[in-house]
Amino acid sequence: AHLARIEAVDEKVHAFLHVDREGALAQARAVDAKRAAGEKLGPLAGVPLALKDIFTTEGIPTTVGSKILEGWIPPYDATLTRKLKEADVVILGKTNMDEFAMGSSTENSAYGPTGNPWDLTRIPGGSGGGSSAALASHQAPLAIGTDTGGSIRQPAAVTGTVGVKPTYGGVSRYGMVAFSSSLDQGGPCARTVLDAALLHEVIAGHDPLDSTSIDAPVPAVVEAARNGSVTGMRVGVVQQFRGEHYQAGVMQRFDEAVAVLKELGAEIIELDCPSFDLGLSAYYLIAPSECSSNLARFDAMRYGLRVGDDGTKSAEEVTALTREAGFGDEVKRRIMLGTYALSSGYYDAYYGSAQKVRTLIKQDFDRSFEQVDVIVSPTTPTTAFPIGERADDPMAMYLADLCTIPTNLAGNAAMSLPVGLAPEDNLPVGLQIIAPAMKDDRLYKVGAAVE
Ligand code: GLN
Repeated sequence: AHLARIEAVDEKVHAFLHVDREGALAQARAVDAKRAAGEKLGPLAGVPLALKDIFTTEGIPTTVGSKILEGWIPPYDATLTRKLKEADVVILGKTNMDEFAMGSSTENSAYGPTGNPWDLTRIPGGSGGGSSAALASHQAPLAIGTDTGGSIRQPAAVTGTVGVKPTYGGVSRYGMVAFSSSLDQGGPCARTVLDAALLHEVIAGHDPLDSTSIDAPVPAVVEAARNGSVTGMRVGVVQQFRGEHYQAGVMQRFDEAVAVLKELGAEIIELDCPSFDLGLSAYYLIAPSECSSNLARFDAMRYGLRVGDDGTKSAEEVTALTREAGFGDEVKRRIMLGTYALSSGYYDAYYGSAQKVRTLIKQDFDRSFEQVDVIVSPTTPTTAFPIGERADDPMAMYLADLCTIPTNLAGNAAMSLPVGLAPEDNLPVGLQIIAPAMKDDRLYKVGAAVE
């Protein structure tokens, strides 16, 4: 049924870069055979899923939305891919994304944009717009995203779906193509809080192949999602998460959600987190710095594209020609920014200062979580904007992650879930819930109560 749905609507939506029809049917038949034989089935047996094209899949193309990896077939599965298969999930295919997960609209994909199923002329968010659009257009009931500065939560918000960025280190990054390693985190996307929890539990857990993976039990997210409640909880509202950049209808739905939390028995506490105002600036030094280092591996020798290899040119020339042809504008912009910020003489002033701001943000969170159990905010300052509107204005594009970035910098956990439509444009609004590191279960407890 989901393959038929993809066939019927994805020409318009363009959520998928690659549909693995045969593989999906084979996986589904294998589940049927197991069931018929009375064998033990995985926890998500037979459930179809759309996988962001940033996770390696053995034998199946993985492009990261970039020309530089066009045609590359990974020889191995990411840990997350392996866990999905072990849970008997049926992987339908790989979803569209901003190139190397850099963007907030999926317009930076080298393979063309994805439309928002609510209005195909609008963006589905980014970088994981393919995954969120697949959910919103019912092409898959579950999807996987990655969140470096908001790429799970912002697409969830603008498509009216649920997305969770787990605690940093909660889900293995092994086999997830690196953008900014200290911020990148894979996580679950779904249409309901409980569905997200069921997927979360399958993909989370310690992995010796990822040195930053947390070696501790996975928070009890499914149990929390089944027992939604905010009675007696202290919920923080940060004064820095409002102001001139926020759309009136987004704030209206947010204020209503806070009123609902209060009605359900939560105590609302105002918080002051001054360093959050510096989050965007710090992020746009740290993320490009790490990206400039991580993307050095795309040298035309090891993977994918190779341009100008005609026997007359040096290795350096082939590398340069390949990177020139293979990377898009936003990726080049970040590599240049990052290389500059890391260069000797500028390192302390830029990268060093940004790291100090990162510590201040972490401290603002730590202080806040002494007073509250969770923090809530709008997920994004605005609803889905028209395709093309911010494409030539990187600063306007970067603002989409104003509320999501502090969480990545601090390493804690956050969810976005739908809280209705903005009255002025009838487009979905997301509520962000933020919890301390390793308290991912609180997201689900609160999320299930307000859903
Ligand atoms: N939009 C942000 C960026 O462009 C975040 C992307 C992400 O989370 N991968 O970097």
